[in-house]
Amino acid sequence: MARYKDAVCRQCRRIGEKLFLKGERCYSPRCAVEKRRRPPGNSNPRRRRPSDWAIQLKEKQKARWTYGILERQFRRYFEMARESSGATGDNLIQVLESRLDNVVYRLSFSESRKQGRQLVNHGHFTVNGGRMDIPSYLVKPGDVIEWKRAGNNGSNPEYIEILTDGLPKRPVPSWLRLDVPNLSGEIVTAPHVSEVNTNIEARLIVEFYSK
Ligand code: SF4
Repeated sequence: MARYKDAVCRQCRRIGEKLFLKGERCYSPRCAVEKRRRPPGNSNPRRRRPSDWAIQLKEKQKARWTYGILERQFRRYFEMARESSGATGDNLIQVLESRLDNVVYRLSFSESRKQGRQLVNHGHFTVNGGRMDIPSYLVKPGDVIEWKRAGNNGSNPEYIEILTDGLPKRPVPSWLRLDVPNLSGEIVTAPHVSEVNTNIEARLIVEFYSK
C-alpha cells in the first residue's frame, strides 16, 4: 500500500498548524511547529494573499494529512459523503472519523492515528470478536473493538504505558464508550461532528471538489 514516507512534521509546517501526527512529541517544546513556524524548504517565502483555491486546497490537505489518507482514497470518501443524505462536509468528517485506525486513536488505545494504523495492521484488534487488520474499516454503531490481551494477567503492557493513572490521556468522545479494564470500546452512535476537534473546515473541502 502506498503511503507518505517523508517527515510528517513537514506537513504541519506546510499547513502552519499542529496536526498532532506524532503523539507525545506534539505536546512538547520539541514540536517542529513550535520551533519553526516557516513552511519547509523556503527560507524566505514571498508573502502574498492566497487565492480562494489555495485556501481550499490547504484545507483539503490538512484533512488528508490529519487522517493519514492518500488522495485517491480521500476522493472516494468525498464521493461517499456526497452520495449520502445530509450536508456533504459533515458526512465527510463522519466517514473519516469512522475509520478503525481513527477509532483506535479516539479510544486512546494509541498515541497517534499513525500508531493506531500500525496496531490495526499488526492484528492487535478484534471487531465484534473477529480479527480485523484493515485500518480503513468503517465502524458502525454497535461495533465492539477489543484489544487482544497480551500480558500474563490479561493486561496489555503497551496500553498500560499509554494510560495516566489508569485513565486515558485524552478525553474520549461521547459517541464512543471506553472500557479500560476489558481493553475494549463500543461505538455508541455515529460520530458527532461537533466533537471533532481537528479544526477542519469541511465546507472549504466541498468547495474544492465542487469546481
Ligand atoms: Fe506536527 Fe506533532 Fe510534528 Fe509538532 S511534533 S510538527 S504537531 S507532527
